[in-house]
Amino acid sequence: MAIVDTRTPDPKKFIKGATGDWEMVIGMEVHAQVTSKAKLFSGASTEFGAEPNANVSLVDAAMPGTLPVINEECVAQAIRTGLGLKAEINLKSVFDRKNYFYPDLPQGYQISQFKQPIVGEGKILLDMPEEQVEIGVERLHLEQDAGKSLHDQHPTMSFVDLNRSGVALMEIVSKPDLRSSDEAKAYLAKLRMILRYLGTCDGNMDQGSMRADVNVSVRRPGGEFGTRCEIKNVNSIRFVGQAIEYEARRQIGILEDGGTIDQETRLFDPVKGETRSMRSKEEAHDYRYFPDPDLLPLEFDQAYVDSLAHDLPELPDEKKKRFVADYGLTAYDADILVVEKASADFFEEVAKGRDAKLSANWVINEFFGRLNKEGLDLDQSPVSAAQLGGIIDLVRDGTISGKIAKDLFEIVWTEGGSPAEIVETRGMKQVTDLGAIEKVVDEIIAGNPDKVEQARAKPGLLGWFVGQVMKASGGKANPQAVNDLLKAKIGIE
Ligand code: ADP
Ligand code: MG
Repeated sequence: MAIVDTRTPDPKKFIKGATGDWEMVIGMEVHAQVTSKAKLFSGASTEFGAEPNANVSLVDAAMPGTLPVINEECVAQAIRTGLGLKAEINLKSVFDRKNYFYPDLPQGYQISQFKQPIVGEGKILLDMPEEQVEIGVERLHLEQDAGKSLHDQHPTMSFVDLNRSGVALMEIVSKPDLRSSDEAKAYLAKLRMILRYLGTCDGNMDQGSMRADVNVSVRRPGGEFGTRCEIKNVNSIRFVGQAIEYEARRQIGILEDGGTIDQETRLFDPVKGETRSMRSKEEAHDYRYFPDPDLLPLEFDQAYVDSLAHDLPELPDEKKKRFVADYGLTAYDADILVVEKASADFFEEVAKGRDAKLSANWVINEFFGRLNKEGLDLDQSPVSAAQLGGIIDLVRDGTISGKIAKDLFEIVWTEGGSPAEIVETRGMKQVTDLGAIEKVVDEIIAGNPDKVEQARAKPGLLGWFVGQVMKASGGKANPQAVNDLLKAKIGIE
């Protein structure tokens, strides 16, 4: 395949070397575990954390005479993902055997897709701080996961756990379109976001349901592509960034010393923050791919694809556009709200029939801020959308001030209850009764004659008076009324 360079070199991303500028070129291969109750070719469960070898069928253990049977739901999930990546869906694809020997691979081969994957070219849009970047997706194919070897349970024995054996994975391969570690991190985050919206992979990198192989090379800006190294199985977005930064500088060091890069597979060591060689190209496996004779080509019709497309949820890009267009939110706020489908839904529930910007402010600053502080997920929140909406309504209609609203939020958060009732029973209503406010204003003015003199010359002092009145009223006086009364009484224009 001829690689086409779709990007214009951007000096802001160059790395300064001793002999001039360098540019990173990065491509990612992401393994995403398909969300499905059963495995790709057997009915065994995919549940995480089960007892070793509890979820193993005869097919997963590669017993002679057993045959794989394709799980239709996994196929549907791959097609949904392809549609979410705006990719071409191949109505016919082929499963191949990728042959290698390893104790946790009892078949002696992995069933994968090689020449004819289920999904072809697609794209992922990245919203970087200063630009929008479109990253090409080369392909998506379905394959089986292997089991797991356990070496540290016993001094002289190794064990094999086949629970993962046969679990469906989607391998999503990007084009070498990424040009910085920030773009690579944004690509992973965006891909994970899309998978979660679609419900096709839970994206939990710490549980291994999403793993990234990162291909890195360097070149002179805009020049020929360099030789790449592949960093295997990086399991967090932060590590992806660190691995790329280290690897690019390592390669630049070698090239500037007059050396050449060996195409090799490397591992990232998160403790040292370094990559180290795992195997060179000479040691690379020859997988002897060939179509699996146990499986027919995978075929379906366009009507099936269309029916899946019809039921696809709204995805983050479209949701963001809608939030900006329909609610008048800033792109910045919309970005924060659409990160998770659940948080976008929460916002929409709060904003329903209310001022959208005020709602977004409350959801993002008070509500998400508080969740973050407590380390809680949205579904663990003690405050519901209806309760938050109730608080906003009370601010909006002038029943409480913005300041009291924060106290009220605190009460609802810790004690629960209806915001309107709490305000009623605890006497938190804003005082809009001018007579009552005037009384307090008069007291403060009478008590501070010198400050009144000063304020006439220096109107900035008005703020001090407003503060005093608010304090004396327990924060309940309507700030606008206080302001107006003070100005009139002190004699400030
Ligand atoms: P392989 O056949 O070894 O898997 P591929 O051509 O499928 O290789 O590419 C694997 C990954 O490496 C892809 O994500 C691709 O974008 C990336 N890649 C290819 N060439 C380069 C390069 N010169 N520098 C960085 N990444 C590259
Ligand atoms: Mg590959």
